[in-house]
Amino acid sequence: MKSINPYVGPRDRMVLEQLAARGVSDPRVLDAMRHVAREAFVPEELRQAAYSDQPLPIGEGQTISQPYIVAAMAEALGLRGDENILEIGTGSGYDAAVLAHIARAVHTIERIPSLARRARETLRRLGYESVEVIEGDGSVGWRPAAPYDAIVATAEAPRIPPSLRAQLRPGGRLVMPVADPSCGQALVRMIRGDNGHDRVESILPVRFVPLIGIEGWPDDRTSSGQTREGEGLHRPFGGHR
Ligand code: SAM
Repeated sequence: MKSINPYVGPRDRMVLEQLAARGVSDPRVLDAMRHVAREAFVPEELRQAAYSDQPLPIGEGQTISQPYIVAAMAEALGLRGDENILEIGTGSGYDAAVLAHIARAVHTIERIPSLARRARETLRRLGYESVEVIEGDGSVGWRPAAPYDAIVATAEAPRIPPSLRAQLRPGGRLVMPVADPSCGQALVRMIRGDNGHDRVESILPVRFVPLIGIEGWPDDRTSSGQTREGEGLHRPFGGHR
């Protein structure tokens, strides 16, 4: 007898109710979100909550991003399918799997060794051969696979790291959260110009963990200079929930 996957229904509902209903419309992104088994990237005891509308803890004080944020960031990259992508902040590896469904190659870098190892194992087990997981400080990018058509970071920096801009090809897109005086943190998109004239726009207010590294925040600080509440979580606010 054919067994029924109990996660397919919740996953389809997540795509309709959390993504499409909030305006995510790129068919490639919706298709990828419909295919990636988010339950495989969360701790076993949280599998039942895998398709809930929130980030979830993955250990080491870090989180797997809320599905809507993963989809909104992928959509903002404007992918067509042939891209070489750099992701900073592998975490569980879920985001990398979503991007791998759409793009040609994904290089993803994580600073916490135990998370990098677990994500690598999960991605290998699920057959994501086009994803390379690197352990290290992604605030300075990953030169061996540059230039990139698209760069995405899932941790907040004080400003767009110059190394990430340098590793983006002209016309390429970078999407990441950066500190913003008006709302705390904003998701920004930068399109690298041919002649040094980049286009930078704010997409939505967000709450991400800090990007810790040479071109990010120092290890002992927080972006506001105060202790963050709910560190390890990120979620859109002000009309995006
Ligand atoms: N994309 C992830 C997923 O799908 O599960 C969610 C990532 S979590 C919100 C942010 C991650 O960024 C954390 O795992 C954190 O350790 C990592 N991080 C923070 N600073 C980093 C840096 N300089 N280089 C690489 N990873 C970093």
